[in-house]
Amino acid sequence: MNHIAVAIDGPSGAGKSTIARAAAKAMGFVYVDTGAMYRTIGLAVSRRGISIGEPEKVLPMLDENVTIGLAYDDAGVQHVLLNGEDVSSLIRTPEMSMYASFVSAIPEVRAFLLDTQRNLARTTSVIMDGRDIGTVILPDARVKIFLTASTEARAKRRLLELQEKGEDVTYEAVLSDMIQRDKQDSERAAAPLRQAEDAVLVDTSELTLEQSIDAVLQQIRAAVEEER
Ligand code: C5P
Repeated sequence: MNHIAVAIDGPSGAGKSTIARAAAKAMGFVYVDTGAMYRTIGLAVSRRGISIGEPEKVLPMLDENVTIGLAYDDAGVQHVLLNGEDVSSLIRTPEMSMYASFVSAIPEVRAFLLDTQRNLARTTSVIMDGRDIGTVILPDARVKIFLTASTEARAKRRLLELQEKGEDVTYEAVLSDMIQRDKQDSERAAAPLRQAEDAVLVDTSELTLEQSIDAVLQQIRAAVEEER
């Protein structure tokens, strides 16, 4: 079988990364979390003391040496490196979610990451998740899934995730961040979040995690069968 690409897009908190990671493991594919790359640029930007809303300060910083690297540990878990430093846990905060959403609306930032993301899918089978994978990054992906859930279901899941990590957050704060991020991500001019015409819609509001993973695996396995 030739290698195949699976694109999973959708709003924040729909379960994309958990589901994509599990599906990649089951299929033996490489999982690529593109949100982590935007978060890492967001971290680099915040470390420079640049505030959200100052895009003109971000561009010169990109030209200087910001390098984003991906590494995989023995369990196949993706780690993201900022100039060689593993920042995988530092980027998982509500503040970095907002920084990621801010930098991701800057066309030069998207262009900066485009080749890296495309190249990852050139030589191996991947499941790549993000907002524009099926529409912009891998328009020829063999399988495209648009994963979504109600805003309330997504906020509840994100709250649990943050609480498990010991973050002191309220449901209201998580919900309002999520609504703001959905709005920014779908209304921006550069590669807004939208369902590709040929993507299959999977709504996980009423599904358990297992059922969601199965729904995604069904699509992938059907495509793999056809490729044989
Ligand atoms: O998926 P995650 O929540 O980690 O993504 C963080 C932010 O990065 C998103 O809110 C979105 O603004 C941006 N993003 C994007 N395009 C992608 C992946 C993420 O614009 N392919």
